[in-house]
Amino acid sequence: MIDSFGRNINYLRISVTDLCNLRCKYCIPEQGINKIDNKEILTLEEIEEITKIFVELGVTKVRITGGEPLVRKNVLKLIKNIGSIEKIKDFSITTNGTLLEDYIEELKAFGVNRLNISLDTFNEDRYKYITRGGELQKVLNGIEKAKQMGIYPIKFNVVLVKGFNDDEIKDFVNLTIDEDVHVRFIELMPIGQCKNWSLGKFISNETILNKVKGLEEDKSEDISSPAKYYKLPNAKGKVGLISSISCSFCKDCNRIRLTCDGKLKLCLHSDEEIDLKNPLRNGEDVKQIIINAINKKPQRHNLEDGEYINRNMVAIGG
Ligand code: SAM
Repeated sequence: MIDSFGRNINYLRISVTDLCNLRCKYCIPEQGINKIDNKEILTLEEIEEITKIFVELGVTKVRITGGEPLVRKNVLKLIKNIGSIEKIKDFSITTNGTLLEDYIEELKAFGVNRLNISLDTFNEDRYKYITRGGELQKVLNGIEKAKQMGIYPIKFNVVLVKGFNDDEIKDFVNLTIDEDVHVRFIELMPIGQCKNWSLGKFISNETILNKVKGLEEDKSEDISSPAKYYKLPNAKGKVGLISSISCSFCKDCNRIRLTCDGKLKLCLHSDEEIDLKNPLRNGEDVKQIIINAINKKPQRHNLEDGEYINRNMVAIGG
């Protein structure tokens, strides 16, 4: 699918649930979010059907996300079915890692070839604080098992929060010295109901380049990746900077998102959503709806004027 700005849209992120077993302070309010009515949530069969339409239209790259994707009942069945769609060349999952130890063998068997794990600190107390109660050890066990099983590459998503984990920047970067892992720093976005919590805690990715000397630009990664990659000299792994706020990467954006309630999001930072669920349930031509929608993908997001979206990150899928 080529959009009206000549971008080849071939990457679909599918959020399979808006539920999560953690309550990260920048992502979900303490009381949780207003739960979407079960009837509004796509069934696993509907997700699969819509995915196949996207694949017919040229999607070759799929990422499963959420909420926490591994809390969705029977998610492995969906992952198995999507993993067996031949035209999908790259199949990955974004997870908080808390359930990874139990799921990783099947994920690998079903074709998940890459893993993004969200982890903002290596300190147990801090982890408990930022996730409102999460157990770091469970995540570490999951990571260890994934490594033993040869999952590659493992990417860590680290959201930097001023005064919380900015003193761990070097520790995260140093992880890449001896291990071929990607550490990706994501700029904190003031989104949804956590907007106010996030204000004043933003750290630009520029800080990392100032704090860690010797990082050299690495141009070997796919240009459509939102991360700009760097390496320490002779390091095995890489450091990625995802600067959604301070620097836009829209020019090469090849992504679209399907929310768990069946909405197509053309841009993470836009509130515009195109419903696919009801058309699918009413037997309408979903393929044509998608083709028409792709042409409306915005050229770029516009965060400079402080316009942030209303839907919570947990209900979008990162
Ligand atoms: N539960 C999964 C996980 O933890 O990776 C997938 C969903 S989570 C919403 C996806 C990613 O979005 C995570 O890496 C999380 O850190 C990131 N995220 C959530 N809220 C964010 C925010 N306000 N700013 C930046 N990143 C955010």
